[in-house]
Amino acid sequence: MRLASSTKNLKIFTKKKELLHWLGSPENKQKTVGLVPTMGALHEGHLSLIHTAQKQSDIVVCSIFVNPKQFNDPADLERYPRPVEQDIEKLQAAECDVLFMPGIDEMYAENEEWQMDLGSLENVLEGRSRPGHFQGVVHVVKKLFDLVGPQLAFFGQKDYQQVMVIKKLVKQFKMPVKLVIVPVLREPDGLAMSSRNVHLSTEERRQALALSKALQLTKKHFNERTIPRLKAEAHGFLNRSEGIKLDYFEICDAETLKPAVSKKNAGLVALTAAYVGRTRLIDNIILR
Ligand code: AMP
Repeated sequence: MRLASSTKNLKIFTKKKELLHWLGSPENKQKTVGLVPTMGALHEGHLSLIHTAQKQSDIVVCSIFVNPKQFNDPADLERYPRPVEQDIEKLQAAECDVLFMPGIDEMYAENEEWQMDLGSLENVLEGRSRPGHFQGVVHVVKKLFDLVGPQLAFFGQKDYQQVMVIKKLVKQFKMPVKLVIVPVLREPDGLAMSSRNVHLSTEERRQALALSKALQLTKKHFNERTIPRLKAEAHGFLNRSEGIKLDYFEICDAETLKPAVSKKNAGLVALTAAYVGRTRLIDNIILR
């Protein structure tokens, strides 16, 4: 497909050099840049990141890159939706300034192999279920931060563990970027918006509601129940829910994501992942 480099006011770059040149031009180089990294198949959740970014930055750069390194399942990578033209239209309508949409070779030209010590974050929840996933995430986010040099970067609470991993990346490399976390945007019935929701059949779409329901029930009963009881009830509910193949439902310390056994932790979050048909969904809710 041929892409115009500028459609209406949205600048589209596929090459790092061209993006850098534009960002470094005399009219742009003093401006505050906000970066919104995505894998495309944009929905309202992504757009809420863009709108938040627009309020806090002079220039908003949205990146779309389906990062092969963060997919541990080749079938998932293959199946990931890539509706490029619709994404461009959505970014234009949202009045986003820049779309950076590199190819795989552009992002992974050099054959660098490095690992970051993510501590326990690597081995719990998504880390345990998707080995190597967060190493892939830090690889691509570090590249994007190094390239764009944003003052601000916007991430969704929807990927709670990813936020914790990126906080660690920024701290480790002392990167001069402020992370802004945007709340989970949901459909009116509670389902967390996700690019993967397009894979759900009508029946699966209905079944998928069990995830947000389990989280909401946990929050509702939080004050009256112990943590083990809350977890047991959520497991019972999800395991009884038709069409749900539960991966995990955990109540964790909001910073370390280590499972919480009592309510003494300052911050607590409930996180869940499950298959609905072939589609793996994640969701979470902050309990305190
Ligand atoms: P993705 O394209 O799935 O990698 O997501 C790109 C960014 O959008 C990540 O920071 C996600 O956490 C965020 N995001 C995805 N879904 C939502 C949602 N429902 N509400 C808020 N942010 C979201």
